[in-house]
Amino acid sequence: MRTKLLILFLLIAGAPYLLMAKGKTITKVVIDAGHGGSDIGAQGAFSKEKDITLAVSLKVGKIIADSMKGMQVIFTRTTDTYPTLVDRHKVANQANADLFIAIHVNSTPFTYTKILKGYKMVKRHHKTVKQPIYTSIRHHETKRSGVETYVLALHRNYQKEEAISEMTTETGLMDVNDPQTAIIIAQYSQAFQLKSLSLSSKIQEQFAAEGRPDLGVKQLPLEVLAGSAMPGVLVEIGFITNVEEETYLNSEKGQEDVAMAIYKGIRAYKADAEK
Ligand SMILES: [Zn+2]
Repeated sequence: MRTKLLILFLLIAGAPYLLMAKGKTITKVVIDAGHGGSDIGAQGAFSKEKDITLAVSLKVGKIIADSMKGMQVIFTRTTDTYPTLVDRHKVANQANADLFIAIHVNSTPFTYTKILKGYKMVKRHHKTVKQPIYTSIRHHETKRSGVETYVLALHRNYQKEEAISEMTTETGLMDVNDPQTAIIIAQYSQAFQLKSLSLSSKIQEQFAAEGRPDLGVKQLPLEVLAGSAMPGVLVEIGFITNVEEETYLNSEKGQEDVAMAIYKGIRAYKADAEK
């Protein structure tokens, strides 16, 4: 326990220096296409999250490479593979990247609807009566639409399970009872939280400018954001369970719009940070 407290202290005390040492220029960005390989992510009517995240990530990377001189793009994957969350952090940390941007597609939980299938005749008290037969249909179509961006939650008493399950269907939440989590969060809070919030709101602004519904910036103890030693955000670019958005996110135009919004958010953040 004492060692853990010491580590915690060192991380908190050391974080501002770590931040200063990195300087103001932003030259390396990690683009993390969510899911991949056997982890398909969320599923829509005709497409999978892992394919959309990859297509959009590659487009963001290409726009940056074409338009931002001196900016290096590092992908966590460029094909249909599954790097673990640890692999993804490693890529980012070993590159000593300045920003980490995870791209995901939102979904809504399954709901069940009872549908009348027909009737059957049953005997009751010497009489034959008509009884309805229901069948239950599982579906998760939604009218919800729009974009939301997550940053790492800082306090361990964030609004718990109900709120979380309502907010996202992403897996990979940190274990808030693990002392290690407190350390990571303390480290992150000192150095990167304000920057992550700034980046996330700039990305949201760009989507809003494109006319997409702005679902705001939210906080969750997401594992994928916790392990990388740099400001990071997770963008949920739309709902795969809304067939209109699914179609848009699978279209060339939709993917280009999304990639452009993320690029412009990064550009605005970079300009601000390098002032
Ligand atoms: Zn996802």
